Amino acid sequence: MAGPAYDRLIFELSSPGRTAYSLPEADVPGKALASLLPPRYLRAEPPALPEVSEFDVVRHYSRLSRMNYGVDTHFYPLGSCTMKYNPRINEDMARLAGFAHLHPLTPERGSQGALRLMDELAQALGEIAGMDAVSLQPAAGAQGELAGVLMIRAYHRARGERRTKVLVPDSAHGTNPASTAIAGYEVVQLKSDANGEVDLGDLERNLDGSVAAFMVTVPNTLGLFETRIIEITELCHAQGVQVYMDGANLNAILGVTRPGDLGFDVCHFNLHKTFTTPHGGGGPGAGPVGVRAHLEPFLPAPVVVKRAERYALDWKRPKSIGKLQAFWGNFGMLVRAYAYIRTMGADGLRSVAENAVLNANYVMKRLEAHYDLAAPGPCMHECVVSARRQKKLGVTATDIAKRLLDLGFYAPSTYFPLIVEEALMIEPTETESKETLDAFCDAMIQIAREAETDPAPIHDAPVTTPVGRLDQTKAAREPDLRWTPSQTR
Ligand SMILES: *Cc1c(COP(=O)(O)O)cnc(C)c1O
Repeated sequence: MAGPAYDRLIFELSSPGRTAYSLPEADVPGKALASLLPPRYLRAEPPALPEVSEFDVVRHYSRLSRMNYGVDTHFYPLGSCTMKYNPRINEDMARLAGFAHLHPLTPERGSQGALRLMDELAQALGEIAGMDAVSLQPAAGAQGELAGVLMIRAYHRARGERRTKVLVPDSAHGTNPASTAIAGYEVVQLKSDANGEVDLGDLERNLDGSVAAFMVTVPNTLGLFETRIIEITELCHAQGVQVYMDGANLNAILGVTRPGDLGFDVCHFNLHKTFTTPHGGGGPGAGPVGVRAHLEPFLPAPVVVKRAERYALDWKRPKSIGKLQAFWGNFGMLVRAYAYIRTMGADGLRSVAENAVLNANYVMKRLEAHYDLAAPGPCMHECVVSARRQKKLGVTATDIAKRLLDLGFYAPSTYFPLIVEEALMIEPTETESKETLDAFCDAMIQIAREAETDPAPIHDAPVTTPVGRLDQTKAAREPDLRWTPSQTR
């Protein structure tokens, strides 16, 4: 196969007796360690660990790190994921010893700084989203959704109402119906209209006293702002229906408009998208959830409170949906997001949205002659194109995604949203330069031309990556991820 060879596994580099250290013999008198441990904890055979030198270890992992594809090395236009640059100052702040070494069970008098940071972050997020109270506990957007839906359920129950359904548009992220179903609701899917927005007629037909909530992403997953959103939230409220905003796309509207002002009752944030904490393999996420005042009693416990200049964790919350997450949430992520918000300031946050929207529209304009658009523009912070024209020539969205890897770019999200045939969802983010966007658009245009004239390199792609085209079904059904000692011995 062309391209760089597989790196050998570290087990395959092993040579009997080789070690990564040399220490003098211990001069502490006493029993051998083995005789201090109960025999049932002792191995009969030594573990099959690789025997390598320190230099072998350093080179092996340095080589592996260069096979990694990340936002630090390449443009990463993965739609709906906001793969933007994480300023390193945020990493430095999270590593300050006072934060990084603080045990989560440190008594309140010894953790005032951390509690203050959590209180101020919750307030900043509340201000950004127009929400009255924010819980920092959820570890991901999906868990924020679950928390939000559970609070809505608790709210209706407290009012003596048994509502059984949640309405979700067909353009929704898969987590929306999933968290709704986990909370025990029946999910009712609503249609999108020809422009990709919520079909108001379908919404009205389904709105009645059996509906607990309407859950919608703004801007939606087609990268469009729901122009009739205020009408939508009012229609819902008239039926006692709570309105949930999936805030994963908040990057598009930061400092420009606020979910609370649009009439939303609940909204989650993805700190690992909008607020530049690491994403995917970079670390855990954080998905705080904000609510309007009527839902505040139901927030997950505990909540950070400030009483007489002291910060404390308040557990006495009889209506709370309970605790959701180990300790108080993924604290390191909270420090990063706090540092980001404080260093950006209000004007900086607004410019994030403005530049993210500008960049996405630039990409859309450059591509519109070469690919079909999922919806007429302008778009918000991401644009969705369809490869349906290319598919007629035998080139699918997957093929285009693979070819992009050979041309030096990470692929956009493919086949999402589900309502767009051969979807390619491109989110450039505000942190990329015009030069990078142009290089990406040039690659996309080159692929569109190849589809018409010479599709062979598209079908062979990728040839420059460590692994070529996989049998995707087999990779998903029979993942072979485990090395067993017998493989080399
Ligand atoms: C990413 C995303 C989610 C889920 O967030 P996680 O942090 O991955 O759980 C939900 N909705 C939309 C629109 C998203 O893009």
